[in-house]
Amino acid sequence: MNQRDNEILRVAIQKSGRLSEKSQELLKECGISVNHGSNKLKASASNFPLEVLYLRDDDIPQYVADNVADIGILGENVVIEKAKEVKVIEPLGFAKCRLSLAVKREENYPGIEFFQSKKIATSYPHILKSFLDKKGISAEIEEISGSVEIAPGIGLADGICDIVSTGSTLLTNGLKETDVVMKSQAVMIGAMELGVGKQALLDKLLFRIRSVRNAQKNKYILLNAPNDKIQDIISLLPGMKSPTILPLANEGWSSVHSVIKEDEFWEVIDKLKDLGAQGILIVPIEKMIV
Ligand code: ATP
Ligand code: ZN
Repeated sequence: MNQRDNEILRVAIQKSGRLSEKSQELLKECGISVNHGSNKLKASASNFPLEVLYLRDDDIPQYVADNVADIGILGENVVIEKAKEVKVIEPLGFAKCRLSLAVKREENYPGIEFFQSKKIATSYPHILKSFLDKKGISAEIEEISGSVEIAPGIGLADGICDIVSTGSTLLTNGLKETDVVMKSQAVMIGAMELGVGKQALLDKLLFRIRSVRNAQKNKYILLNAPNDKIQDIISLLPGMKSPTILPLANEGWSSVHSVIKEDEFWEVIDKLKDLGAQGILIVPIEKMIV
């Protein structure tokens, strides 16, 4: 057995919180079964040389920088805030949110200059400081670790800088969003240097992750169309290479099979119907190898 056969890729994911379920789901969709034993900190996969470490998201960059974990899954916002020696390997498309400034709803907000010499509560002091520096604003940054949104209401700060997705938390706390500081999503990070064996395992995992994500972004489409409209229809559905056209028993008609992007689907569907397409089926794709 050579060294490579002994390698194990150690991945750090959030123990509990907004990222944990999606991170575990992603590994599962990649065909990796993780055996949750009694050990709540660590688990091994049975069918891939992989070990999962369950950590607080804030600690993941440090563990990866220290080579205790090889890779980690967490929000880009935390990666940038912690500024550790790690590299961002791959965006993962979930936990999409933004880090925004907000003030009390009744506040008259003229623009970012509002914050000049004001007090802002946040769990992201570094990101906020560099944003304000770029805007030429000098404010007092009050670092707090949780329930940032209540700070203006209790008189702790004039505004906040916090994670927003729908804005409902801001609303229920009488706040309004004023400026987007950064957009974020879950990303995979990795150690600056991985050995050859671990890199090969990571490449294998990334190939699977990309196949899963491509599948999620695309749908398989089947429809019946009159032969004289086939050219127009395939120009709307370029597919992976080109669509499959099969003659139907019904003379003058064909069945068209292709792949369509989920977010383009509603736009294309009306055009397909106008061209005479019938029996349109949209089917989810489990994995898509490109
Ligand atoms: P931990 O206990 O591990 O420190 P936490 O309380 O810091 O957890 P969570 O609230 O679980 O963190 O959020 C983890 C990450 O999920 C955030 O850093 C952010 O990237 C993302 N996130 C947070 N809130 C939302 C939201 N409302 N919608 C989408 N993504 C979000
Ligand atoms: Zn955290």
